[in-house]
Amino acid sequence: LPNTRFDAGETIFHRGEPGDHAYLIRSGQVEISTDQGGKKVVIANLGPGEVFGELALISHQARTATATTTRDTEATVISTERLQAAIDSADPLLQTLLRGNLGRFIWTQRFMLQHASPKSEDSSLAHQAERDRNVEAEIGRAIKTREFELFYQPIVDLEKGHIAGFEALMRWRHPDRGTVSPGEFIGVAEATGQIVAMGAWALEEALEQLKGFQAIVDQQALDEQPPLFMSVNVSGRQLLELDEIEHLGAVLKQSGVAPERIKLEITESLLVDDPMHAAIALQQLRDLGVRLAIDDFGTGYSSLSYLHLFPLDTLKIDRSFVQDMIHDPRRERIVRAISGLARDLDLNIIAEGVENEEELASLNRFECDYVQGFLMAKPQTADQIRQLLAG
Ligand code: C2E
Ligand code: CA
Ligand code: CA
Ligand code: CA
Repeated sequence: LPNTRFDAGETIFHRGEPGDHAYLIRSGQVEISTDQGGKKVVIANLGPGEVFGELALISHQARTATATTTRDTEATVISTERLQAAIDSADPLLQTLLRGNLGRFIWTQRFMLQHASPKSEDSSLAHQAERDRNVEAEIGRAIKTREFELFYQPIVDLEKGHIAGFEALMRWRHPDRGTVSPGEFIGVAEATGQIVAMGAWALEEALEQLKGFQAIVDQQALDEQPPLFMSVNVSGRQLLELDEIEHLGAVLKQSGVAPERIKLEITESLLVDDPMHAAIALQQLRDLGVRLAIDDFGTGYSSLSYLHLFPLDTLKIDRSFVQDMIHDPRRERIVRAISGLARDLDLNIIAEGVENEEELASLNRFECDYVQGFLMAKPQTADQIRQLLAG
C-alpha cells in the first residue's frame, strides 16, 4: 500500500467532500474536526497506528469531518476498492461486528454534534418559519375540505412479472396550485403533528381501495396469485404516540383486510434517532400482524447494526442507489451487498425508482424480489389503477 507525506497544518480532506480514501497513520498527528455554527469542534487527535477517513468509504457518504495534520505526518493510503475488497472477503461475523460498531459510532457522533451548540436563528430561517406557518394553516384547511388524495404506484414481482402490490403516495389537490407533491407538505405536517391525522386517513383510504383492486383481480380469475398488498408510508411522528398505534389497529380491524397484506414503510431515521422507542412501536405493529418495510434504505445514517433488532420484513433500496449503479460500480456493489444482506436476514427487497431496462437487468442479477419505478408504472389515481388491472 502506498504511503503519503503531509506537512504540518495540511488539510487532508474537508467535511462534505466525497470520500474515496482512508488513511492509516504511520507517524505524526492528525486532528479530526467539524464545525458548528462557524465554530471549530475537535472530535479527535489521532496518532501512529490509528485509522481515519474510513467512515465515508463504508457508509458511502460525504466526509463527516475535516482531517488536518498538526505535525509532519506520514500515512498509508487505502482506496475504497481495497477496503471494500477486504470487507467483502471478511468473515460474515466480522462484517456484522464492523457494521454494528460503525452504526453506533455514527449515531453517537451525530448525537454529540446535535447537542454541541444551539443553532442560530438567521433571517432566512425566520422566513422559512413564516412560510411553514402558512403551509400549516393551509394543511389544516385542506384536511377539512378533503383535498388530499392517494395515488398508487404498482410494485411488480420481478420474477413473475405481475403486479404484487402498490405503494400509496399522497397528493394534495390544491384549489389554486393544482396537484402538490408530498415533498412540499409532508415535512411541515410532520413538524406540526398534522401528519398523524393525515396518516391515519391514508391507511384507511388505502385499505378501502385495496379491496376494490383485489375484487378486479379476482374477477379476472387468472392463474393463482397471492393477494395484492398495500404499502403505506408512516411517519415517525405517528409511531411516537402509542394510542395512535392502537388507532391504526382499529382501522385495520374495521377494514377486514388481512393484516399481512399491509406493509408500513418507515424510514431509517426513526430507528437511528430513537431505537428503544422504535423497537417498542414496531413490535406493537408487528403484533397486529402487519409487515414492516424500511424505506429509502442506505440514505440515512446506516442502521445496519439495528436491522436484527427490529421485526422487519422488507428493505426498500433507495432510488439514488438504483439510478447511480449503472454508471458507478461502487453503487452497484452496494446494491449487491444490500441484497445479499437482506437475503441473509430473510428480508424481502424492493428496489425503487427503476427507470430503465439496464437498471432492471442489474436488479435481476441480484435476485431482487420486487421492483417499483417509472419503467413499470408511475403513481396514478385509484381510477387509473382499476383500469390498468381490468385491462
Ligand atoms: P418515498 O416513500 O421514497 O416514495 C417514492 C417516491 O419516488 C415517490 O415520490 C414516487 O413518486 C417516486 N418515484 C417512484 N418511482 C420513481 C422513478 O422511477 N423515478 C423517479 N424519479 N421517482 C420515482 P412522491 O410521491 O413525490 O413522494 C415523496 C415522498 O413523500 C415519499 O418518498 C414519502 O417519503 C413521502 N410521502 C408520500 N406519501 C406519504 C404519506 O402518505 N405519508 C407519509 N408520512 N409520507 C408520504
Ligand atoms: Ca415509501
Ligand atoms: Ca422510498
Ligand atoms: Ca426515496
